[in-house]
Amino acid sequence: MGNDFNPFQMAQAQLKAACDKLGLDPGYYEILKEPLRVLTVNIPVKMDDGTTKTFIGFRSQHNDAVGPTKGGIRFHPDVTLDEVKALSMWMTFKCGVVGIPYGGGKGGVICNPKELSKSELERLSRNYFRAIAQIVGPEKDIPAPDVYTTGQIMAWMMDEFSKVKQFNAPGVITGKPLIIGGSRGRNEATARGCMYVIVEAAAKIGLSLEGATVAIQGYGNAGRIAAELLSGLGCKIVAVSDSRGAAYNPAGIDPWAIGQFKDTTGTVKGYPGSEDIGNAGVLTLPCDILIPAALENQITAAVAPEVKAKLVAEAANGPTTPEADKILFENGIMVLPDILANAGGVTVSYFEWVQNLMGYYWTEEEVNDKLHQVMVQAFSNVYNMYQRYGDIDMRTAAYLVAVERVAQAMEVRGWV
Ligand code: GLU
Repeated sequence: MGNDFNPFQMAQAQLKAACDKLGLDPGYYEILKEPLRVLTVNIPVKMDDGTTKTFIGFRSQHNDAVGPTKGGIRFHPDVTLDEVKALSMWMTFKCGVVGIPYGGGKGGVICNPKELSKSELERLSRNYFRAIAQIVGPEKDIPAPDVYTTGQIMAWMMDEFSKVKQFNAPGVITGKPLIIGGSRGRNEATARGCMYVIVEAAAKIGLSLEGATVAIQGYGNAGRIAAELLSGLGCKIVAVSDSRGAAYNPAGIDPWAIGQFKDTTGTVKGYPGSEDIGNAGVLTLPCDILIPAALENQITAAVAPEVKAKLVAEAANGPTTPEADKILFENGIMVLPDILANAGGVTVSYFEWVQNLMGYYWTEEEVNDKLHQVMVQAFSNVYNMYQRYGDIDMRTAAYLVAVERVAQAMEVRGWV
């Protein structure tokens, strides 16, 4: 991340543009520009060598006018408070775009999980969750996985919360393993939702998916499964990358084979028959569809003029800066913004929470059908807004849909 990049200022700028466009009373922006509540915790953890190390964690609850706050927990060495605040704001609007009854929240712990043993990771996860236990809960704030956090980590956190509260509380967190109340289809949901909106957008811009070339930055849960799903639709994956490097092959890459390669070597870099064009090189390749599926601040004003894709689908949160947005828009590139393109994850998290509260579990087909309906409807609402104005990009259109909804909830509650 560049030193001058502040994701929270970026989120505020996006929000301001939407509030202005909607002509809202300034009171709405005043409430929404900051999270309602932020908790910073110091987390002591006994390391395997007997020493004690103290980690810093955050939980930001941006807005709960529509419902309890919802959003993942990120474990990453570069986590900052402003990043977590921005991510929590994006969650408010992500839930607004897909119309699920949640506000936005986000958590983060400054750590490098790749350097922790499994037992250290477990202690860190449990201690962090115990430290934020008073402000989370099935009716208050429901965390989930995000960058470098897994179903196993969700299981430890849910167990810790259940012990603190002295009852089994599967609804406190989503993205859990199936056996303790996870939902079928949750693991694939972010990528699947992304695929659904790509299908809708491709039809609008006249792009045939059969043979369409795809470049993906990031080969974690979202990027990897998106590659598999799009390949299943006939797309050709020409490049994928991760934090260590990239694999580019214009003849096409088998997403399952390179996934197995990453499982054994830890990276996609060095995959046989591919060229390493670097993690950032993937963004400017000639291709039809570009999927940033890593971190924030990737498509910057310096990168945007070089983007050659016809469609950009943001599986990551915040990959494109506002300056870059303008350039992509002027160049006629359609961007499916994060709050729409990766909303499949939180949508199936919502389904998981509903199933937990009912104690009744759905088939994978039911989950995927419901997800499909939600994503198609959300795309259509955003696309209609985009067409209604005629002079805005899809991100602004998505914000207009979302902010309008959150503002309505604040109005009827009497906040403004
Ligand atoms: N971390 C994911 C996101 O950014 C999922 C959040 C959730 O499922 O609550 O959307």
